[in-house]
Amino acid sequence: MTHRGVEKLQALVRIPTVSHRDRSLVDVGVFDAFLAELATQFPLLHERLEPTPVDTHGLLFHWPGRSADRPVVLMAHLDVVPVDDEERWTHPPFGAEIHDGAVWGRGTLDDKGQLVAACEAVETLLEQDFVPAQDVWLSFGCNEEVSGDAAPLAVAELERRGVRPWFVLDEGGAIAAEAFPGVAAPIGVIGVTEKGVTSLELRVEGRGGHASTPARNGPTARLARAITRLDRHQMSASTPEPTVELLRRLAPHASAALRPLMANAGRLGPLLTRVLIAAGPEPAAMTRTTFAITTLSGSPALNVIASTARAGVNVRIMVGDTVASVLEHVRRTIDDDQVRVSVVDQHEPSPVSPMDEAFGLLEATIREVFPDAVPAPYVMMAATDSRFFTRICTRVYRFAPFRMTKAQRESIHAYDEHLGVDAFVDGVRWYQRLIERIPE
Ligand SMILES: [Zn+2]
Repeated sequence: MTHRGVEKLQALVRIPTVSHRDRSLVDVGVFDAFLAELATQFPLLHERLEPTPVDTHGLLFHWPGRSADRPVVLMAHLDVVPVDDEERWTHPPFGAEIHDGAVWGRGTLDDKGQLVAACEAVETLLEQDFVPAQDVWLSFGCNEEVSGDAAPLAVAELERRGVRPWFVLDEGGAIAAEAFPGVAAPIGVIGVTEKGVTSLELRVEGRGGHASTPARNGPTARLARAITRLDRHQMSASTPEPTVELLRRLAPHASAALRPLMANAGRLGPLLTRVLIAAGPEPAAMTRTTFAITTLSGSPALNVIASTARAGVNVRIMVGDTVASVLEHVRRTIDDDQVRVSVVDQHEPSPVSPMDEAFGLLEATIREVFPDAVPAPYVMMAATDSRFFTRICTRVYRFAPFRMTKAQRESIHAYDEHLGVDAFVDGVRWYQRLIERIPE
């Protein structure tokens, strides 16, 4: 017999809640249908937890506990990214069909699986008249994928009610198999900080004109020089404490060749950082702020010299650097006052959450439900809605309690996204145990 939660997940994955930066493109009816289906699937949750609407289709649920001293916030988001390559999917992206022991569809991993697992755990506990030791809040965003306002508005609502969360849990890490070369055990990675995502524009203006009479060092050449300078000169690198701790924890599970390096990660300092940089772009990104030149534009015609040349730069800011230090580095490196640098949007890196009692609770619950996994902290490269909660909470953790293979992690925002049925059921149990274990 399938777990009843699986059918709920299927029903909700079938509703294509695709968010858009341009609000006029959002299909409001689809989001309305999702919220109606959620209320049908989780009647007790809606009856007893007084949902507060947030933004257009976000929800904030409040479950009063025996104490309100150390409230806990469990987050997820109900919107998904669009499907633009349907022909590559093995099964229909909004079909939520079960094949090979998994539910297939957009949003199963990111992030409806997490949302439904949390709801199902709460619904089950409500049926048993369970009362948590502390207040539990569920905060579900509706525009995470487009950096919308639901999360900052949820933070404002909690602030208005005087809620200072003990800890916040959002998407991010997972029970990741094949995550580290030479380590066979799955790693229960919990994000304790995330890089800041900031976008810059480089712009050079000049005379333009006819392509038959070009002058040297025009806007495109100056822009190209700025780009290559930026590409050659990185900001300083170091290995942040969560990465050192991750390596230390993995050391006993690593191959004999890597074990000494990992076990002594804390003492190796610059040597370790050099090893990570040499190991490829992914490990290198763990050590420093990265700059990716993304958009480029110049002249629209082959025989016209550009009067304006532009490049977009996507910057992922490492903990320790700031938007201001990034701008200083960019200006100094480019060293050309004709290249104008402007900030398109900016987010500082999130502060590092402590590994104290709250982290220990997540860790202990991972050990109980996934005994083969090694719980460990890590620095997230991607951005989540939880970054907004760092304003009201020092303990913000990013973890979804699902076993995921490498292929599954790569399917997020791509094609063939699927969540194992057993993995989902384990996830429901993890949330249930987490809530039961919240201390007085
Ligand atoms: Zn997500």
